This record gives sequence, C-alpha cells and structure tokens, in this order.
Amino acid sequence: MAKGGGMGNMMKQVQQMQAKMEKMQAELEEMEIEASSGGGMVTVVVNGKQDVISIKLDPEVVDKDDVEMLQDLIVAAINQAKEKAGEIQAENMSQITGGMNIPGMNLPFQENDKLMFKSANSVERLANRLARLPGIGRKSANRLAFHILKLSKEDAIELADTIREVKEKVGFCSECNNISETDPCQICSDPKRSRSIICVVEETPDAAAIDKAESFNGMFHILGGKLSPLDGIGPDDLKISELLQRIHNGDVTEIILATNPNVEGEATALYLAGLLRPLGLKISRIARGLPVGSDLEYADSATLSRALEGRQEF
Ligand SMILES: [Zn+2]
Repeated sequence: MAKGGGMGNMMKQVQQMQAKMEKMQAELEEMEIEASSGGGMVTVVVNGKQDVISIKLDPEVVDKDDVEMLQDLIVAAINQAKEKAGEIQAENMSQITGGMNIPGMNLPFQENDKLMFKSANSVERLANRLARLPGIGRKSANRLAFHILKLSKEDAIELADTIREVKEKVGFCSECNNISETDPCQICSDPKRSRSIICVVEETPDAAAIDKAESFNGMFHILGGKLSPLDGIGPDDLKISELLQRIHNGDVTEIILATNPNVEGEATALYLAGLLRPLGLKISRIARGLPVGSDLEYADSATLSRALEGRQEF
C-alpha cells in the first residue's frame, strides 16, 4: 500500500505540475512584451511564447535606398523582445518546477500585462551617442552605428583610436586659437611669416583654406565662431579679448576681417571693426569674390586669393 500510495502521490504532483504548466502557457500567450530599436523607430511586440505579434515602423525609417538598415533594426528589435520573453519564460518555469510546495502561484507577470523594455544594447548606445553630434539625425545615427558594427574589428578600433588620439594630442594654439598638435601652432611659430598682419576668421578650417590659397603670409586669429544672438553667442563667447591682447602686445598694423560672407559673419566683422577702429590699425574686409551665403572652408583657392587681394578698407 505504501508503494502504491507513493506512486499515487507522485502522479498527483505531476498532474498538478501539468496543470500549472498549462496555465502558464496560456498566460504567456496572453502577455505582451515590447522592445524597440533605433530609438523607437522599430517597435516589436512578442508574446510570452516568443511569437511575434506586431511590428510597428516609424515612417521616418522607411527609405528605399536603405533597406538594409531597416532590416537590421527589425532584427535587433525582434531579438531583444524574444530575449526578454525567454527570460520571463525561464523564470516562470523555475517557479513551477522548483516551487512545487509553495501554495498559490503568484507569477510576477500576472501583474504586468505589458512590459516595456528599453533597448540598452551596445549598438543602440552607440547610435544614441552619435545622434548627439551636430547634423546627425536619428536616422543617420542608426546608419552610422550599423556601419561601424559591420566594420572589421581592425577598422573599428582604428576609428576609436583616432578619436582618442584627437582628444589626447590635439589642442588649441594659445596665441591664435588654431587647432594644433603643438603650442604655439606651426603658423604662429613660423619665422618667415609676417607678424604685423592678422587675418581674423571664424574657425580653423577657414584659416586652413586661406593658407592653402598661398596669397597670405601673415598670422591668423581664430574666433571660434561668430556672433549669433539667436544661438546665444555673444562677444564673450568668441576669442575677441585674446585678439585685443595680441594687438596690444605685438606690432600689428593691419587686421583682415575674414569672417564668412553671410549675415552672422558680416555682423561679426562689423562688430570687430567698431571695436578695432579706435586702435588706429588698418582694417580691411575680404572682398566679395566669394558667393554670398557660402562658407570659406569650401571655397576654391583662386576665389579665396581674389577675395584677399581685393580686400577693402573697412
Ligand atoms: Zn597659432
């Protein structure tokens, strides 16, 4: 009898377990687990049994020229949702098998029909970081992140090393504010260049473009931007006091105002001219050889040369 009783008891336990399993399966089927990729551009909902229930695409992500990215984002979202569903399934399973003697089954997912899992994988993190760069929208950030993902390990590490190197090695010239690996920079420390004339530009690429045109042999001063009240950029945000200091300290006789020929660039030049005029210097503004609304950085050398030669007193 004892034997049969034992067997009967075991059968009863198995039956109980089976009932609980069936209940869990039914509950898992009812569950909805959501995951998204690309900062919410692709959202996938799966149930607790890892069946895909729905896929929602942000219209922004649909681009016939970049089907590959969309495919990658869908795969990423599905995998994340499934992974999460798998974890919940495993957790519940262990509660049934390991918790035979626990009276009542309070499965955690009974309280949360819909669980939202914010994607936190490393591709997503990279895309989020890239999206914070100027001019990079969410879509471009996703594209770049997946591109980096597909690079060979060597190429990706080289890219990361280059970024690190830029931050570790490159700084600003304490004289002209040029981006440089040395201080003073190559231009400021070149004895063949005239120190009596300073060409004032907005950014380092502008100075590089003018220097490439080879019709200017003086010094540069990089303002680090332009006056832009709308963006909250005033005189104190630019290296203007440093320019005054240079003029004060050195034998400067002429200032060329080579800010960009657009509204903010003109306003910056006007402001500087007003500030410098009382100092008795020759002040000139680069001539209009440059198309209005353009950037110095992208002008060709001939245009830049003409613009410099034709500069007018301001
Ligand atoms: Zn310098």
